[in-house]
Amino acid sequence: MKVANKSTSAVSLVKSALEKIEKYKDKNIFTFINQENALKKAEEIDKKIRNGEQVGRLAGVPYALKDNFLSTEGETTASAKILTGLNSPINSTCAEKLEKEGAIMVARTNLDAFAHGSSTENSFFGPTKNAYDDSRVAGGSSGGSAVAVALDCVEFATGTDTGGSIRQPASFNGVFGIKPTYGTISRYGVVAMASSTDVVGFFSKSASDLDLLMSIASGRDSKDQTSLPDFYGTSDFSLEKKKIGLIKEFVESPALNPEIKSAFDEKVSLFKSKGYEIVELSLPALEYALAAYYIIQPAEVASNLSRYDGIRYAYRTKNLKDESSPEKSPLDLLFSNTRSEGFMRENKRRIMIGNFVLSSGFYDAYFLKAAKARTLIIKEFEKAFEKVDAILSPVAPNPAFKLGEKVDDPVSMYLEDVMSVPVNLAGLPAVAFPAGFTSENNKDYKTPVPLGLQLIGPRRSDKNLIALAGEIV
Ligand code: GLN
Repeated sequence: MKVANKSTSAVSLVKSALEKIEKYKDKNIFTFINQENALKKAEEIDKKIRNGEQVGRLAGVPYALKDNFLSTEGETTASAKILTGLNSPINSTCAEKLEKEGAIMVARTNLDAFAHGSSTENSFFGPTKNAYDDSRVAGGSSGGSAVAVALDCVEFATGTDTGGSIRQPASFNGVFGIKPTYGTISRYGVVAMASSTDVVGFFSKSASDLDLLMSIASGRDSKDQTSLPDFYGTSDFSLEKKKIGLIKEFVESPALNPEIKSAFDEKVSLFKSKGYEIVELSLPALEYALAAYYIIQPAEVASNLSRYDGIRYAYRTKNLKDESSPEKSPLDLLFSNTRSEGFMRENKRRIMIGNFVLSSGFYDAYFLKAAKARTLIIKEFEKAFEKVDAILSPVAPNPAFKLGEKVDDPVSMYLEDVMSVPVNLAGLPAVAFPAGFTSENNKDYKTPVPLGLQLIGPRRSDKNLIALAGEIV
């Protein structure tokens, strides 16, 4: 990571980031450019350096903030119409920690509205394009952050991963992404999606950058009761077994793209050549992971999104009359019209599914069953980690798909999450890392696109997973 010091100034780092941001305007990566503030902050850092004052570990490093992190710089929209116009009075704990070390937020990145999606097509601001191929998706929901890092607009970017939203776009754009152990980084000041699986994490170009960012951002925050006491860097987890697992159900899946399978096989050989034993694991409960996730997550979404009523937050409907429903009061219309105008289709779908699975009469059949499946999944992973240090797995069954290909077919979009959501249900850490490109000869792709894999570990093994990923890239 390039840091401001005697040979490079913060102003020149920020200026070159802003130039790149301008250069890739057509990719639709950003929702807000923080030009003025960023340059001002850079000048302050340079002044400190000139005066010989102490500067932080990220002095002058330009970064991008996913637009679901509250920030006093520019509007925070979560790429949803219902939040347009929201000027947050607070900053997220994560961004405050980064800025304390001298990092400079130069832009906010596009996402699927409220982080609901796997392609960044569900954004009120339109889709972000893949870093390598304009006709393909960026992945999602943190598509903007992944592309910003892939195209070197910034040194790193923040993301959130509720069911794969850091790892999948990282793999679609050929960068590193960490989904930490649940609770490692404070979620204070981050727009909630599904609170029992949401985590904050990062995109970067190297494993060592991820390590630095994790050591800065992790730790207990009294403003987030789910945050864990700081363990990062002090964990005694080690790779002592020298065993890497593979999940038979994933690797043998007919849905797995053959190019991803070959990238996977290559890394298996690399691990073997480094003296690791490869252990085949069977985790039969993973068959239920996607279904369980798409019950639990919408249930939590329905609850978290109920606060957007048109009164307490930004967007409010102007339409307070409805001739066809004279029984509705203006207040009822204010709630319902604000919500129907302000949410995207996918947000509404999740609110409806969530309320349905929680409703009396259906709770036992859906939510309770999904919660039980989740417990089974947690137990199967625990057993697996008695045998192996880490699990090597694809992030998604396919590389980046075409823009528009799945956006009207929610189930086929959800199926792309089959290999990422189990990690979130179990609260485990996982690191996505680049594993080459589709081949030049593959006629399905007009230009080669990145392939990505992930390493999954037991809780609190984040640091070792990052090191391991660094070792094999
Ligand atoms: N693609 C998943 C979903 O739409 C995950 C999203 C996320 O991690 N925010 O739910």
